[in-house]
Amino acid sequence: MANLLIDPHGRVIDYMRISITDLCNLRCIYCMPPEGIQLLSHSDILSYEEILTIIRVARSLGIRKIRITGGEPLVRRGVLEFISRLTRMSGIEDVALTTNGVLLARMAGDLKAAGLNRINVSLDSLRRETFHAVTGMDRLGEVLAGIETALEQGFDLVKINVVLLQGVNEADLPAFARLTLEKPIDVRFIERMPFGMNQCPNSPDPLSALKAREIIRRELGELHPVDRNPLDGPATMFRLEQAVGRVGIIDPVTGHFCGTCNRIRLTARGALRPCLLGNGEIDIKSDLRRGVSDQVLADIIRRAVLAKPMAHSMCLPEMNESMSRIGG
Ligand code: SAM
Repeated sequence: MANLLIDPHGRVIDYMRISITDLCNLRCIYCMPPEGIQLLSHSDILSYEEILTIIRVARSLGIRKIRITGGEPLVRRGVLEFISRLTRMSGIEDVALTTNGVLLARMAGDLKAAGLNRINVSLDSLRRETFHAVTGMDRLGEVLAGIETALEQGFDLVKINVVLLQGVNEADLPAFARLTLEKPIDVRFIERMPFGMNQCPNSPDPLSALKAREIIRRELGELHPVDRNPLDGPATMFRLEQAVGRVGIIDPVTGHFCGTCNRIRLTARGALRPCLLGNGEIDIKSDLRRGVSDQVLADIIRRAVLAKPMAHSMCLPEMNESMSRIGG
């Protein structure tokens, strides 16, 4: 029988989200402090070899899907070779990448050749000034070119992830949804989560997924629910009349997001995080560098899975009241 990692709440954990760098070439106001982050030294970051060792052990326990993220993963040297090794690993069924898209136009062909199946591009505005205000950089043109190139390269799926920011990108929401009318992409609207808020004093207020749906429906008509597929993650999926692509809603703050959680995270610094929104981390780098056996690494991974909370703190009842003030 295949190995399965099952958390204390009965969820099968088969997905590892791996940050390969803390560096980023954008400075999004809700994600990075204005002064930037303290750079880690090269030796603090897991090497590709170390990441592959952890994946190999995780695979033997039941991890089947990998998402590469950051920081901005495409800024780390050697990422293409790393992806190519990962996609050739037997037992890993799906490898996807989350990127801000700035370097995608020049790298999409090589990423496809490295065996990558799926790309998520994070993009919060289609207007140049707003993009600049959110990211601190005037690079919207490069991101749009990156999305076009990814579509031309024929990835199985290109998704655009839009974080909902009150007073910032409401006007963009219909334009984003309109992209799905003609392009085979999924545009997903995501509630801004309250992590890193201390470091990001200029972070815009969140906007609820419900409000986003209303804005889109008012301009473009009904969003029809469509069946989810296993790669939709926590998104509820819809389609506009006659659309080629789909619209997704991800509501980690106002909705029920954790029930289907199937993932653990590995940070660039070599810690396992049982929950995206929890602070808990379990160090794996120290033992890995001490040369412990695969069995010990497997025990650390199991420990991270056993530490998964049923829901992140925002979903717990005592937090619901404070969340009711979320925009819309
Ligand atoms: N640099 C890559 C990118 O931009 O996609 C990968 C890392 S970035 C941290 C991953 C995703 O997390 C982006 O889509 C970003 O918008 C999202 N994100 C960051 N902070 C967030 C927050 N507070 N709430 C919701 N999403 C957030």
